[in-house]
Amino acid sequence: MNSKVHQGHKARKRFGQNFLHDDYIIDQIVDAIYPSDDFTMVEIGPGLGALTTPVCDRIAQLHVVELDRDLAARLASHPFLQDKLVIHQADAMKFDFTDLIEPGKKLKIFGNLPYNISTQLMFHLFEFAPYVEDMHFMLQKEVVNRLAAGPGSKTYGRLSVMAQYYCQVVPVLEVGPEAFKPAPKVDSAVVKLLPYSTPPFPADDIHCLSRITADAFGKRRKTIRNSLSHLFSQEQLTELGLDHAARPEQLSLEQYVILANALAQRKE
Ligand code: SAM
Repeated sequence: MNSKVHQGHKARKRFGQNFLHDDYIIDQIVDAIYPSDDFTMVEIGPGLGALTTPVCDRIAQLHVVELDRDLAARLASHPFLQDKLVIHQADAMKFDFTDLIEPGKKLKIFGNLPYNISTQLMFHLFEFAPYVEDMHFMLQKEVVNRLAAGPGSKTYGRLSVMAQYYCQVVPVLEVGPEAFKPAPKVDSAVVKLLPYSTPPFPADDIHCLSRITADAFGKRRKTIRNSLSHLFSQEQLTELGLDHAARPEQLSLEQYVILANALAQRKE
């Protein structure tokens, strides 16, 4: 049988479609999500419903955001799911998740995300952090490692700093390729992201933090004296208590926020 066809649907590579089919893994993910009607529940990329169905067994309503028209239509006519689903046939990267907010309820967002857009999608989702109770995502294991990495690690980068600015990052589960159809070429992992009600190191202007991390990690091999020379002199870096000869992966989140706040102050 063609391994790309699952439940009569031909997996579309451009939509990053790798469907979960391992019930043991699915149960573990659903337990970690802990679905509840006390929250507005949202799934990104429900696909053929591997997570959608067991989640709907536990709750009355689930919002789903699915880009593939055929899959959205399939869900809309699903005998058991159709009454519980609010289907948004849309691109999650452009979706305004504040549209789903109900009074007194935070969002719980989850999904087995298309790997080709997962990093970009993370950055989009961080914008909604204040409205979110928690998020559970299946990602490439390498992306989960990057999300969770601390300073000094090879995988520590802009994604680590920005994710850890907004959220506590908790790796939950590693998943091998055989749990999916078709099997991806890489290992996967589930991560839990818990947005802080107040960030541990608040930035006065998040755009400054975003810019500084982009500029610093954009030239990863250079010292910050070099990569940030258009923003700070060597003396200014020293005054801020930073080693100007440090490389971007050596700076902590707190130090990036110090830089961002110094830049924001100048703009005022
Ligand atoms: N949740 C299903 C599962 O676990 O078997 C499917 C997961 S599959 C890795 C990713 C899903 O995201 C697919 O259904 C795909 O069509 C959908 N998708 C891809 N790009 C998307 C986007 N930009 N916005 C919303 N959904 C998207």
